[in-house]
Amino acid sequence: MKKGYFGDFGGRFVPELLMPPLVELEEAMASILPSKTFRKELADLLANYAGRETPLTYCPALSKKLGFDLWLKREDLLHTGAHKLNNTLGQALLARHMGKTNLIAETGAGQHGVATAAAAARLGMTCTVYMGAEDVERQSANVRRMRLMGAEVVAVESGSRTLKDAINAALRAWISLQGSTHYCFGTAAGPYPFPDLVREFQSVIGREARAQMLERTGSLPDYVVAAVGGGSNAIGMFAPFVPDASVKLIGVEAGGSGEEGCPNSAAINLGRPGVLHGEYTMLLQDEAGQILPSGSISAGLDYPGVGPEHACLAASGRVKYGVAYDHEALAAFQALCRFEGILPALESSHALAYVLEHAGEFEPGSRVLVNLSGRGDKDMDIVEHALHL
Ligand SMILES: *Cc1c(COP(=O)(O)O)cnc(C)c1O
Repeated sequence: MKKGYFGDFGGRFVPELLMPPLVELEEAMASILPSKTFRKELADLLANYAGRETPLTYCPALSKKLGFDLWLKREDLLHTGAHKLNNTLGQALLARHMGKTNLIAETGAGQHGVATAAAAARLGMTCTVYMGAEDVERQSANVRRMRLMGAEVVAVESGSRTLKDAINAALRAWISLQGSTHYCFGTAAGPYPFPDLVREFQSVIGREARAQMLERTGSLPDYVVAAVGGGSNAIGMFAPFVPDASVKLIGVEAGGSGEEGCPNSAAINLGRPGVLHGEYTMLLQDEAGQILPSGSISAGLDYPGVGPEHACLAASGRVKYGVAYDHEALAAFQALCRFEGILPALESSHALAYVLEHAGEFEPGSRVLVNLSGRGDKDMDIVEHALHL
């Protein structure tokens, strides 16, 4: 396989001025990540600051209704409420070992911004978060969290004033800052080596879940299901299971409202290959190659592309990619609250929704493992408004 590529996908399509920091990062990954000191420090942060390992929870009531065993990997219980901290702690620690003192990051809904701000505060680094001006207005609670943890939030006024534009602004800022600054990218996408780096730090999810399933049930799950935005929680969950031929892997994209011509975030199911944010991957685009505005009831899945490793896993058929619509995610959100006493993030609700909507496709008695990527307290207003509660 060509370096930096997953099949046809991936690569490093960036301006010449971004090559030096990307090469520096690639070299640091090779020399620092395997070192004993780094691994020990990261393990300590994950255990004693972030709260790993996260539990594996069996769902008795839903399993009884469904006729197969439903298990959840509880990333909702991680500090800051989602899997994102696995990645930001890893990148912040790596950056500090590289001698960097400043982190920059993009954020859409604000979850990655909060996780980066937390990691920066914990490791004594300064932090600037680029956020679309539209999102700054919509996600004021997360803006306040970031500021409380000492991060500066920059409202990006260009383009559609959302995540896509925030990434472009952060990449531009990295060109001029370089030196003491690391760009803490938020998902398993972007130019090489970010897809590898983020997979590396998120794979702790799948490694733990695989061992926990073996210990609790004596065997591997039959199915592993995860929601796909850029693809970091899903690739972190899937990677350790990819060599297990008996385990079927299902990624779930956000289909939006499901109405004809509505915005959605299903880049693998509805997109075509193209280049965005430094990588060649599946993208939502029009006939002329213009990126289409994405949309989903879940802000964290609202992205017009997907990480290149997912594009490759889809092309090879190793992972199947389905779609869940807004109303299905809302129903799954309610079901998990009502039957198991857990409020899932709307992102994670898409993974659960696929299982509930396609229950007939899972053999009776099989073991289905869903990655519960985050908690849903942040989504209560949206859910109550959508369901007229
Ligand atoms: C950000 C987010 C996602 C989507 O991002 P991925 O990189 O695809 O994982 C999913 N779930 C939660 C809870 C999130 O915060």
